[in-house]
Amino acid sequence: MPTARLPLGLSSFLLASAAGATALMLLAAGPTSAQEPTDPYVGFTAERARVQMTCEARFLDLPSSQTFREHLRIITSAPHPAGSEAQVEVGNYLTRVMRAAGLDVVRHTYDVYLPQLTDDVEAWIATPERIKLSNREPALPDDRFSHHPDLLNGWNAFSGTGDVTGEVVYANFGRREDYEALDSMGIDLAGRIVIARYGGNFRGYKVKFAEERGAAGVIMFNDPGFSREGAYPEGPMMNGETIQRGSVLTLPWTGDPLTPFEPALPVSGERGHVERLDPDDVAMPTIPVLPLGFLAAEQILSRMEGTEAPAGWRGGIETSYRITGGPELTVRVRVNQPRALTRAVNVVGTVVGSEYPDEWIILGAHYDPWGFGAIDPNGGTAMLLTLAEALGELADTGCRPRRSILIAHWDAEEAGIIGSTEWVEEFIDPLTVNTVAYINADAAVSGPNFGGSSSPSLKGPILDVLDDVTYPGDDRSVLDWWREEGGGSELGNLGGGSDHVAFYTHAGVPSAGLSSGAPSGVYHSNYDNFAWFERFGDTDFVFGPMLTRIDGLVALRLANADVLPYDATRYATDTRVHVETLLRVAEERRVEVDLSRLVDATEALEAAAERFTGARDRSLEGDAAALAHPVAQRTNRVLRRLEKAWLDDGGLQDRPWSRNLYVSPDPFSGYASWMLPGVRFEIETDDPAEVPEWEAKYLRAIERLTALLDEATALLAG
Ligand SMILES: [Zn+2]
Repeated sequence: MPTARLPLGLSSFLLASAAGATALMLLAAGPTSAQEPTDPYVGFTAERARVQMTCEARFLDLPSSQTFREHLRIITSAPHPAGSEAQVEVGNYLTRVMRAAGLDVVRHTYDVYLPQLTDDVEAWIATPERIKLSNREPALPDDRFSHHPDLLNGWNAFSGTGDVTGEVVYANFGRREDYEALDSMGIDLAGRIVIARYGGNFRGYKVKFAEERGAAGVIMFNDPGFSREGAYPEGPMMNGETIQRGSVLTLPWTGDPLTPFEPALPVSGERGHVERLDPDDVAMPTIPVLPLGFLAAEQILSRMEGTEAPAGWRGGIETSYRITGGPELTVRVRVNQPRALTRAVNVVGTVVGSEYPDEWIILGAHYDPWGFGAIDPNGGTAMLLTLAEALGELADTGCRPRRSILIAHWDAEEAGIIGSTEWVEEFIDPLTVNTVAYINADAAVSGPNFGGSSSPSLKGPILDVLDDVTYPGDDRSVLDWWREEGGGSELGNLGGGSDHVAFYTHAGVPSAGLSSGAPSGVYHSNYDNFAWFERFGDTDFVFGPMLTRIDGLVALRLANADVLPYDATRYATDTRVHVETLLRVAEERRVEVDLSRLVDATEALEAAAERFTGARDRSLEGDAAALAHPVAQRTNRVLRRLEKAWLDDGGLQDRPWSRNLYVSPDPFSGYASWMLPGVRFEIETDDPAEVPEWEAKYLRAIERLTALLDEATALLAG
């Protein structure tokens, strides 16, 4: 049964036809007919739209549940974190599958500075009685994977090495404001073990703020929240021994700690030489840090005897949450974690474009997990392999994309978004000039809940595709399902936390992240495995193929359009929304700012975007569209520069690597997106005197965008 929905009312016609694709092909070859697109694809001439419809119909039939399931099963058969032997095997598998599918596969290797995989991590209550704290998920009878001998204890990458014992202080989520609250209560953290719950920020900041205050060590724990329903293995949520692993690196750049701005080329020198920083000069954590499940954390919390914590600091563990433990209670944290240069391998397969092979649409996901990684990341990996095979097969039927489509599997994301960043730094020139889009697929498939975030210019093309793919087991499109049942309405704004970061915030490539998820409490734990996935995730293996269809159609439209279908108007309308947010934050912090010049500039931008859209659509009208190839190419070259209008070579405050003025991760919490972050930073640091200078940078960026759109309009009007 075809599960894909076609545009323009053709779906019912095709659903009734076993030879759907053939029927469409005949239709495409014939003269104007009633079934022809009345509303051709954005950026396509009518002629090209007909070819596109034929190819899309073929493509939508290709992804299968069996293929997706089999890839996922094979990739996640053993724990395979970055740096392990098993990860080398997975990299080889990705290479073989994509080569067999007809892609041009290149393995890009880097020598990056990574913590060595180690089990050598322990925590005890030291006094008043000595109790070893469990820091490994137990093997479960219902989960054959949880018995695997290669599974590791809970650990945090880039913990310092050390063996420390001290009194305990509870720091809530370990956010900036939590530590400031402890400061104002006069609580000295020097020599103490900080215990903080996960959530509220990137875990690295919990450690950074503690270390800045002289803490001896940090323990982070999963807080169960207030419902114990559905604990694994009965349900998909965390149990008392589920442990969240994760990196605690916080540097002003993403990627390899020793080679900011430069690719961490192999030390053998075969691809050139790169200077590496001395690790002692890089601000990596120095104190020992480890994660626990909530039963182990409860052992500590229930023995604390100091001041009671404020109401908002209490979580779901059934004990009174206290700020200090008192002098009787001491806790010992011991971590032995050497760091060394380690080989990382990105596997990149290319469906070489028939007309413009140097223009790239890139779809990528990391393939390194903490353990098995069925959800994070390999649901996305299996989806990308399914997509690679479908695109290879499609090309064999005569539907080779005009631009190249790259399927990229990144290594060493979990330690600090390293593999993808090094690749972006190596290929910064083609990425800045020729790349159309990057679509990320980190942990992209684990269940029925579609969601996505995107840079403004890709929102329109993505929403159009969502309207053209059927939601599994339903007769609605993904878009209708999402809006009517999935609680969605708009695509979010892309922020930090995964492999799009270097593409988007460093290279200025329009980017998006699309996924179909499920409620889960096994994040970064040894229970994120195929047993979980089969019982609680994409149980019928239908959402993997659904996302394959979505990502594939987005890629094929960007690859084949005559004029790139960027949604230019969204730059203006989204920016106005972000200015509103800035004004709200300023009001909350009682910082006086006037951003009216910015709003005015977005009006000129919107007018330019509308002129451009009109000119584009006119140039594509009619069967014998007037648009000449060289004009289309010159226009597309201008359009690929749109996102670069936001780039500033000086970068953001204290973060020169973050060059995109439009968006950045929140520098005080890590994951959340800050929009217009240059202005946001001055508001958040209560420095309104600096706002006009940053506003001026944004005005220049918006003027550059406006000028580029006018240039594109002039080209099309010829
Ligand atoms: Zn991930």
